[in-house]
Amino acid sequence: MGNRKFSKATNAVWAGEDNPYFGGAVTTPIVNSVAFAYKDLDEWYDVSTGKADGFIYSRNTNPTVASLEEKIRVLEGAEAATSFATGMAAISNTLFTFLKPGKRVVSVKDTYGGTSKLFLDFFPAYHVEVKLCETGNHEELEYEIAKGCDLVYLETPTNPTLKIIDIKRIALAAKKVGAVVVVDNTFATPINQNPLELGADLVLHSATKYLCGHSDAMGGVLAGSKELVQKVFHFREINGASLQADPAYMIARGMKTLELRISRQNESAMRIANYLSEHSKVSQVFYPGLVDHAGHAIAKSQMRGYGGMLSFALDGGYNLVEKFLPSLKLVHLAASLGSVSTLAGPPRTTSHVELTEEQRALLGIPESLIRYSVGIESVDDLLSDLEYALNQL
Ligand SMILES: *Cc1c(COP(=O)(O)O)cnc(C)c1O
Repeated sequence: MGNRKFSKATNAVWAGEDNPYFGGAVTTPIVNSVAFAYKDLDEWYDVSTGKADGFIYSRNTNPTVASLEEKIRVLEGAEAATSFATGMAAISNTLFTFLKPGKRVVSVKDTYGGTSKLFLDFFPAYHVEVKLCETGNHEELEYEIAKGCDLVYLETPTNPTLKIIDIKRIALAAKKVGAVVVVDNTFATPINQNPLELGADLVLHSATKYLCGHSDAMGGVLAGSKELVQKVFHFREINGASLQADPAYMIARGMKTLELRISRQNESAMRIANYLSEHSKVSQVFYPGLVDHAGHAIAKSQMRGYGGMLSFALDGGYNLVEKFLPSLKLVHLAASLGSVSTLAGPPRTTSHVELTEEQRALLGIPESLIRYSVGIESVDDLLSDLEYALNQL
């Protein structure tokens, strides 16, 4: 789209979609071709050696996938972007590209379950030193970073208590020791937060969640400088965790309504958080938009909206959760998040199922906690659904 600047709502629709397509199609076609043919050997050679643009083999690049990558590149304000088969593929490829034996990574305890598993179960075996700090403790992060490290890995807001990390502050600390800063921006989406603008070097997403937005395709994306993205891309094209054209199409299709969905979900989540905070049967509500949330001030300064994820604790034990959740009509009791339909579940049976009750308590996760991913339904219907279920307790 040249050098002209457009708003996020416009970029969500148009970025990566401005080529004339086969037959005059007005949407990006799904190009299910494994390889791409050339009549001219010189041209083939130039594309193969990266001297000319083009496609060779879909494990490396593919026209439908490239269109999705361009969309996320523009929305994150990055120089380059690439994609992966899942969000975990984006995370593991990025981490394994930069973390070799002898390297040191600093991160937080509240990262996504799979990410946390990489840090705790896999990297130590490769002789990578992993230091996980208390998620809200910026002083500890700064102290550990200043000791020297190669990579700083952040996630904000976090799962399931929506803790907030000051990206600018931590990126500044990382710059001083020359560490690469990676931020998992899945919960915020590029509509609400752009980590690269705040000093991060790389931003990644599980595209399975808000970007796709319909719980019907999996993928991962990564954006940042050409130099860093190229390194991760090279690792991915060789290890093969590539995104296929079909899910790339589904994700790009979902992304066209990303700004619409996120605007609605920001507004609805705020109203639901306010409603729940005043309810006598709810003991705690975690939502960064609430002024009494520990990370509210930082969230206000680095996010344009507070997102569609919230969690709340019922005033009692897990037995209340067992009663409450099945009384809700407008939720899927399921893992995952960020879809058009509302999803809910207790961390005790979903994201933090492998931890003991004591370990959850250490992370500040009450046994009666419910994670609630607000969909795009009418907020009045969601509020009355919650009211009905709370009245059953
Ligand atoms: C779901 C999720 C992931 C992993 O993504 P998959 O697409 O399931 O592999 C990573 N980070 C966050 C914050 C997530 O919610």
